[in-house]
Amino acid sequence: LQMIKDKGSFQQICRVWRFSGLKTALVPTMGYFHQGHLSLMSYAKSAADKCIVSLFVNPTQFGPNEDLEAYPRDHERDAEAAERAGADLLFIPEHGDVYAPDHATWIEVPPLSAHLCGKSRPTHFRGVATIVAKLFNLATPSLAVFGQKDWQQLAIIKKMVRDLDMAVQVVGRPIIREEDGLAMSSRNAYLTPEERKAAPMLHQGLLEAQRLVERGVVQAREIIRGVSEFYAENLPQGELDYLELVDPDRIEPVQKVENQALLATAMRLGRARLIDNLLLSGTRA
Ligand code: AMP
Repeated sequence: LQMIKDKGSFQQICRVWRFSGLKTALVPTMGYFHQGHLSLMSYAKSAADKCIVSLFVNPTQFGPNEDLEAYPRDHERDAEAAERAGADLLFIPEHGDVYAPDHATWIEVPPLSAHLCGKSRPTHFRGVATIVAKLFNLATPSLAVFGQKDWQQLAIIKKMVRDLDMAVQVVGRPIIREEDGLAMSSRNAYLTPEERKAAPMLHQGLLEAQRLVERGVVQAREIIRGVSEFYAENLPQGELDYLELVDPDRIEPVQKVENQALLATAMRLGRARLIDNLLLSGTRA
């Protein structure tokens, strides 16, 4: 595994690979790797000749009162884990090298940013889309791999790539969970043991929704009421940020589960803000 800090050298290595005919896959991350990140790297390595990983805690996607400073970091452990997962190149740039002091260009996809996380984090996806576009320009990857844990982010990146004719194939990969169902996240490190014990209920609530749909309850209002009650009962210490049923591509609310609808949620649990989602299928498989 080659580790690199310098933006210019990173760009050069990636270009040489592409121009020599190799297929490259980029996995953008903020580090503090868990199995979710590593599953993306393994996939990248299996789908391409070279697996490129970026590790950058991107300040422009954090709001003023969010956890930018506290975000967990462990570059040494991350490098070892990335190497084991098959990464060939790990790009860990310095803040000042990524954004020029007079950086002024932003990529926004407003229709897909109006709901879910975009509502409570109004500048978040602008920061995400901009850094991902910058990373695409630096790495010129054949493909880029993202987790469905951040479903809205994935939808926004796919839309950006289509709208701007970016020459990269975007791949979404399934959510990796702990054995008790909690979606893996670097932010799970913020949970106290007690909160960690309760946290799987976030996923349990989404499974409750799937059971409702299977029983014929398909109206968004009823599903959301059912899951909210489940949370009030089973996760009373959590503070619900949102629980919405949306179209999986357009990220706009839907009235009922027809073919497929995405039930997505965010909850504050102690210091952590946890997100999770589940694709609900109206037609039984
Ligand atoms: P992050 O470091 O949190 O910005 O995440 C980097 C990438 O890993 C994103 O594409 C995330 O969607 C993905 N990711 C994070 N957690 C998981 C998970 N539990 N399962 C699958 N992918 C994940």
